[in-house]
Amino acid sequence: MQPFVYVGAPARVVFGSGTLDQTGVELAALGASKALVLSTPYQVDDAEALSDTLGDKSAGVFGGAAMHTPVEVTEQALEVIRASGADCTIALGGGSTTGLGKAIAWRTDLPQIVIPTTYAGSEMTPILGETRDGLKTTFKDARVLPDVVIYDVDLTLSLPPALSATSGMNAIAHSVEALYAKDRNPIISLASADGIRALAQALPLIMRDPGDKEARSDALYGAFLCGMALGVISMALHHKLCHVLGGSFDLPHAETHTIVLPHATAFNEQAVPDLLAPVAKALGAETAGQGLFDLAASLGAPLRLADLGMPEDGLGKAADIAVANPYWNPRDFTRDQVFSVLEDAFHGRRPS
Ligand code: NAD
Repeated sequence: MQPFVYVGAPARVVFGSGTLDQTGVELAALGASKALVLSTPYQVDDAEALSDTLGDKSAGVFGGAAMHTPVEVTEQALEVIRASGADCTIALGGGSTTGLGKAIAWRTDLPQIVIPTTYAGSEMTPILGETRDGLKTTFKDARVLPDVVIYDVDLTLSLPPALSATSGMNAIAHSVEALYAKDRNPIISLASADGIRALAQALPLIMRDPGDKEARSDALYGAFLCGMALGVISMALHHKLCHVLGGSFDLPHAETHTIVLPHATAFNEQAVPDLLAPVAKALGAETAGQGLFDLAASLGAPLRLADLGMPEDGLGKAADIAVANPYWNPRDFTRDQVFSVLEDAFHGRRPS
C-alpha cells in the first residue's frame, strides 16, 4: 500500500426514501429556529410544500436560484434573510440551488441543509463558483460545505430523463478524475469506482423507466460517492476544459461534461491505463474512454460540442485558455494536444 492522506468531508448525510420528512428534526439538531428554503423558480412549488411542512420553523421561500450563482441573486436572498430573521438555509434542488446556499453560508456563516435533486454532487464539496458581471470565479473554502445533506430518492423521480443522463455523466466525471489524481487515496478510489458502477448500471434503467425507484436510488447513491470524490480530491484536465467551455463560451454545465469526458479520459488513459481500469471494468468496456462514449450514446445524451452551440473557430481560443495556467494532470500536454481533444469532442468522434 502506498502512503496516502485521507481527509473526510464533515457533512452529515441522511440517505433514503421519504427522508425529506426528517428536515425538521435535522433543523432542530442544528440548533436552528427558522430556515429560509431556497429553490429555482422551476422548483418553487416543492420548496413551498417543504416550507408549509416546517410551519413556524420556516422563514419562507426564496425561489430565485439560478445557474452559476450570480452575485446579484445572492444579494437578493441575503436581504430576504435579514428581513425574515432566518438563522439557517435549506437548499432544495440541483447544483444551482446548492450554489446559492453555499454563497449565503460563505457571507454569513449560517448553517445549511442541502436536499439535492440532481446528481451534480455540489452538496458534498467545499467548492463555490460564483458569477459577477458575467465572469465566473471558483474557489474552495470549508465555510461553504453544507452541515447536513438529505438525499431523498423520491425527489429525483421527477428529474427528466435527458437531465438525469447528463447529470449522471457529470457525476461520473468527478470519480474518473479522482481515480488518477495526484492526491488520490484508496478510500476515495474505492468510493469512486463504486460510484461509477452504480450510475452506469442505473442510468440506462432510468432512461427506460424514469420512475424506477430502485434505479433512482442506485443513481443517487452513485452521485453521493462521486460528489464525495469531488469534495476532497483535486480534479485535472477534464474539469479544466469544462470550466473553460462553460466560463468562456457559456456552454451548459452537465452536457459539456458529458461530451468532453470520453475524450479527456481517452487522452489520459494512454498515460495511466491501470488507474482507469476500474472505469473500463465498471462499464464492461475495452477502454475507459470508449466505455464512457458508448454509455453517453446509449443514454441518448449529446455527443458533439457543435450541438451545444460551440463555434468551431472558438476551439483554438479554448485550447489557449486551457493551457494558459499550468495545473497538474496525469499526462503532460501541449496546446495542440488539448486542441485535438476539443476537436474530437466538437465532432463527437468515438475514442479510438
Ligand atoms: P441545476 O441545479 O441548474 O438544475 C437544472 C434545472 O433542473 C433547474 O431548473 C432545476 O430546478 C431543475 N431540477 C433540478 N432537480 C429537478 C428534479 N428532481 N425534478 C425536476 N426538475 C429538477 O443543474 P445541476 O446540473 O444540478 O447544477 C449545475 C450547477 O451546479 C452549475 O452552476 C455548476 O457549476 C454547479 N456545480 C457546482 C459544483 C460544486 O462543487 N461547486 C459541483 C457540480 C455542479
